[in-house]
Amino acid sequence: MTTTPRFFEQVNRYFDRANAFLDHPDGLLEQIKQCNVVYHISFPVRLDDGQIEVIHGWRAQHSQHRLPVKGGFRLTHHASEDEVTALAALMTYKCAMVDIPFGGAKGAIKIEKDRYSDRELERIIRRYTYELIQKNCIGPGLDVPGPDMGVGEREIAWMADTYMGLSQGDHAAAGAVTGKPVSQGGVRGRVEATGRGVYFGVREAVSIAEDMEPLGLSAGLDGKTMVVQGLGNVGYHAAKFLGADGVKLVGVIEREGAIYDPAGLDVELLFQHRAEGGSLLDLDASESIEGGREGARGLEWECDILLPAALESVILPENAPQIRAKIIAEGANGPTTADGDEILNQRGVLQLPDMFLNAGGVTVSYFEWIKNLTHLRFGRMERRFEAASNDRILRAVEDLTGKRFNGQVFEKIAVGADEEDLVNSGLEETMINGYHEMRDIARSRDTDLRTAAFIAAIQKVALAYQERGIFP
Ligand code: NAD
Repeated sequence: MTTTPRFFEQVNRYFDRANAFLDHPDGLLEQIKQCNVVYHISFPVRLDDGQIEVIHGWRAQHSQHRLPVKGGFRLTHHASEDEVTALAALMTYKCAMVDIPFGGAKGAIKIEKDRYSDRELERIIRRYTYELIQKNCIGPGLDVPGPDMGVGEREIAWMADTYMGLSQGDHAAAGAVTGKPVSQGGVRGRVEATGRGVYFGVREAVSIAEDMEPLGLSAGLDGKTMVVQGLGNVGYHAAKFLGADGVKLVGVIEREGAIYDPAGLDVELLFQHRAEGGSLLDLDASESIEGGREGARGLEWECDILLPAALESVILPENAPQIRAKIIAEGANGPTTADGDEILNQRGVLQLPDMFLNAGGVTVSYFEWIKNLTHLRFGRMERRFEAASNDRILRAVEDLTGKRFNGQVFEKIAVGADEEDLVNSGLEETMINGYHEMRDIARSRDTDLRTAAFIAAIQKVALAYQERGIFP
């Protein structure tokens, strides 16, 4: 029987690998590595049938080198202290890697979401929030939760409402939680941000012909194939954006099973079918596998890009040798164990690591937090000014050339950016810069992208400690 290694241990193995390239005092590195705070919370909740159930949850704050700390919370039956601690550490490194000025945190409530009614879930989340308030583990300048597995806008709205209801007079209170519906202070583009960030990251990686050549691939997305594990928030949006740019979805792995079809699968159809309670296995495909452990065999299907976007520790030494994808795009957090990673590196598979590739969510959450602190919608001040400037430029060109543009040109060019345009532009900028920073380090140190991402992150966290005078 194989046992899955402890998740935090895995993250620390990656950390140690990067340390071999660094020259910081041991004590500083040890401080960065530790998880500073972990709260285990248990609280009673009354179920609809009158019974009382004790619910367990956690909030881990890995590093306060920058405040607030930031990280989503998840609803899963497999949540554990090890899991939230590892995920909080990854958040620290992720934020540092893409220059988001937050420390890392993560939360979880250990429940099987489908077993509870909506009313019960609301009570659980409101009570969890209350417990976080009691322990000073939530607040716009302290700790800012956001969505993760099993958590969407509805759950975030309950959390935000509970926090705001108990913090009258705090004009920054909306910044205590991100991923809110736009009507509650959210920012446009947050729901799809992680998937869109995955798309920008993969697009950048495959645009470099020199890096594609050793994989036997041509540059560009068009014509590439992908297999996606997990058709949730991250997997669905990433598949949708990659698909719109020419990548063919050939396989999907979900809880109930996996399907493969080299002719291509329709992501919208699959997503809708599952949203209506259907199973992937109801649909026609050239190959189908039942769920559970067997379903994970889908990770070995032939494709150019494998996108794990469900859960951690799915690429292990047992299956890494059989994986046929040439690029692994880590949408999920921690999908590859350190031993699995070594095998893939030896085999020349290009791994786009989670701490870079799925940073789109926290990037746009950062924009939401700024919006909440400033109380100003992005684009409100400049949109019409920009539109008028562009209009004047077009008219000046008309006057100079004597030619007239048709109305469509004005409609396309004489516009100003709105909130969604600016959010997506900031996200694209972040992912492109992040990719090149990571790639430059990998090339100059002759190492892989994951180690390079850890090197970049550790350097920045170390600098933050040194700037604060904590370490020489
Ligand atoms: P989600 O709950 O929206 O989707 C997860 C999907 O995975 C679901 O469709 C679920 O049915 C599927 N799944 C669960 N167990 C599975 C299994 N054994 N095999 C195949 N599929 C399975 O969650 P999400 O928000 O999309 O998060 C997915 C991953 O991305 C997690 O690792 C999360 O930490 C990470 N992530 C999420 C965000 C975000 O903004 N939501 C940001 C960064 C990273």
